[in-house]
Amino acid sequence: MKCRLCGCEEVRIAYQGRIRDGRVGKYYKDAVPMYQCARCGTVWHEDLKEDYAAFYGSEDYRQDLEGTSAIEDFYRMHDGESLEKLRYTGTEIFRNQVTADIGCGGGAFLDYVSTVAKRVVAVEPSRTYRRAMEEKGFAVFPYTEDALKEYRGKVDVVVSFDVIEHVQDPLKFVAEIFQLLSGGGRAFVGTPTDAPVMRELLGPDYESFLFSTQHPWVLGKGSFRYIAEQCGIREYRCRFYQRYGLGNLIYWLLKRAPGRHKEYDFITKGLDAHWRADLETNELSDYIVFEFTKEP
Ligand SMILES: [Zn+2]
Repeated sequence: MKCRLCGCEEVRIAYQGRIRDGRVGKYYKDAVPMYQCARCGTVWHEDLKEDYAAFYGSEDYRQDLEGTSAIEDFYRMHDGESLEKLRYTGTEIFRNQVTADIGCGGGAFLDYVSTVAKRVVAVEPSRTYRRAMEEKGFAVFPYTEDALKEYRGKVDVVVSFDVIEHVQDPLKFVAEIFQLLSGGGRAFVGTPTDAPVMRELLGPDYESFLFSTQHPWVLGKGSFRYIAEQCGIREYRCRFYQRYGLGNLIYWLLKRAPGRHKEYDFITKGLDAHWRADLETNELSDYIVFEFTKEP
């Protein structure tokens, strides 16, 4: 057994048991081992989906995950995430810039930057969502390699959130984003971490929710260091963010089930902010953003 990312031969089993298959409460038919590399820290499972391209291009993926693939439902479920994404990027980098979102779904985030951006490039395998974005006048492509034919070296800001954990080859995924960037261009690639505090406190109850057939990877700081080296990216950093508050943890501890952004009266804004900030400072948070720049 070798690390699926870096090839290191020191690999351990980080978890073995049932994992999620699509929506919450639905599990894959067999117990699945999740492996972890001793060198780069990457966690992964071997391929469970046979044809990624067909899966993400069809409507089955959203249907499996969210019970709907209608564009209005996409906005209803994802518009709320745009503020969080702007926290990762800031708002000042988009004006008069060519901006791309890789794996943008219905383009909820792009809608918020399209009025200031010079040009918007939307990369999304789902045909239904592409059609909706074409109507908005975005430059639309199914995959980054298609966008590269027109936009190689021409994109000033690339964002991609909650996508890299789905792809078969994260190294190729980042390499292609790097090729899209213009000199001085910046990229933000965000992905969920293995949420170490939740795993420690909840064990398999949480791990069977965290690990899923659709996420062959859980990438961390060491994974991105390796990817950056391999892609020849010299300017980069990883920043940690906590998306879920203390209420989410308490709900999990009480009910052993996800409570989204659950609030309790006794959790003050200050307490919650402190909890999140501590997790971020100590690199124990539930989200990581790999930021990198192409030299001018
Ligand atoms: Zn590795």
